[in-house]
Amino acid sequence: MSGPFDVRSADVLIVGAGPAGLSAATRLRQLGVAKVIVVDREQQGGGIPRHCGHPPFGMREFGRVLTGPAYARKLVERAVHAGVDLQLGCSVVSIDCSDGDLVVACATNRGALTVTAKRIVIATGVRERPRSARLLGGDRPLGILNTGALQEYVYLERLAPFRRPLIVGTELVALSSLLTCRKIGARPVAMIEAGSHSTVRRASMALPRLLGVPVRYETEIVDIEGRRRVEAVTVRARDGRVDTIDCDGVLLTGCFRPEAALARTAGLEIDTGSGGPAIDQFARTSEPRIFAAGNVLHPVDTAGWSWREGRKVGEFVAQDLAGKLPDAKPAIKLTAGPGIRYVVPQRLVPGEGGFENLQLRADNDVSSGLVAYEGNALIRKQALSTGPERRILAPTSAFAGARGDVTISIDGEEKTSNRSGSECV
Ligand SMILES: Cc1cc2nc3c(=O)[nH]c(=O)nc-3n(C[C@H](O)[C@H](O)[C@H](O)COP(=O)(O)OP(=O)(O)OC[C@H]3O[C@@H](n4cnc5c(N)ncnc54)[C@H](O)[C@@H]3O)c2cc1C
Repeated sequence: MSGPFDVRSADVLIVGAGPAGLSAATRLRQLGVAKVIVVDREQQGGGIPRHCGHPPFGMREFGRVLTGPAYARKLVERAVHAGVDLQLGCSVVSIDCSDGDLVVACATNRGALTVTAKRIVIATGVRERPRSARLLGGDRPLGILNTGALQEYVYLERLAPFRRPLIVGTELVALSSLLTCRKIGARPVAMIEAGSHSTVRRASMALPRLLGVPVRYETEIVDIEGRRRVEAVTVRARDGRVDTIDCDGVLLTGCFRPEAALARTAGLEIDTGSGGPAIDQFARTSEPRIFAAGNVLHPVDTAGWSWREGRKVGEFVAQDLAGKLPDAKPAIKLTAGPGIRYVVPQRLVPGEGGFENLQLRADNDVSSGLVAYEGNALIRKQALSTGPERRILAPTSAFAGARGDVTISIDGEEKTSNRSGSECV
């Protein structure tokens, strides 16, 4: 960067150098798009995998099993080799889409950078819900962390923030945190889970058993105690029993939310179910020159999935620059009905191509199936057996014939709803 106020132009600017952003950028360059800039607020590219010091990453992308940091480095190398301009330590603070080119304001420790771009891809990923948003009461001592922060301490800073933490949650990331704890010789005192069973598949809960970490279901935190550091946590079981667990830290895992602040301030439509920007099947947001890819769209998926999706979105953007995407309007809306947390994409436009599948998440365990209604007409029924936080796919082609808005629900639950034609809008 040449000075305190730098101005650049790009065919495509990508916000976020995680697996999704880097694969979109690499694909765009491979398809001959001349000027592709990727910006990331971190000093290193690679996104979340930079601090996931464990395997398995990279089978799909590099045909071998890698740790997160090795995988992140390879993604960066591949992008730079393809001719992507990677700007690190560069936070996007606003996007102006008012007229002409899109104008992106960035803050860097070298000064301000303004980028004008024909297209933007937002690939800003997810974050875990912090203590404040979980409304956890009690003292405010040191030692209350999210998994992302723990991984940064351990793998990037080589620090041990606690020795005997209580782990809250049973998502995949909670299990990986057991391994992170092992790395620093920490022995979690217990895992607690508000639900009646684990969020991950039951078989995966062999890991805490193997490591001698007890798991308590139907249990929630009511109070955190400690003057300087965490000293104990009061928990309550669903049957009302209250108990105190001695520990020196609390690790809050999962409860992912898209990092959608930028999308929101840019005025993009945000889907209340996913918490990310609403898109059509070509990943176009409500401002059709701005696309989105990766976990910012659907909390939360694996690195490999986000990488593959980013690559696809790179192809859509290249098609759009060549004038080959169908109009962004008119579109029908896809709405998450009873039992469904979110549906992505949220809009379908007439035309060939786009994502092959819709991605959905259910609120709870499901054994009945999915049903989709256009107004009051049942247009699709799909058998389904799954749990919350697990990816559900439904072929986009199954909805291609719909002329009006569609609501997708869990079979049986939709009968208790007050659905009408207008509710589908
Ligand atoms: C704590 C945690 C642990 C995880 N562990 C695993 C795991 O073990 N295995 C797995 O497969 N998945 C894991 N995941 C899921 C993870 O989200 C995906 O692996 C993958 O990183 C998603 O890729 P992405 O490109 O969508 O987003 P990310 O990898 O999150 O990348 C987004 C990037 O955007 C940047 N950014 C955000 N806002 C701005 C801005 N305004 N300006 C500039 N840059 C910005 C961020 O710095 C970040 O580098 C984990 C997620 C979390 C939160």
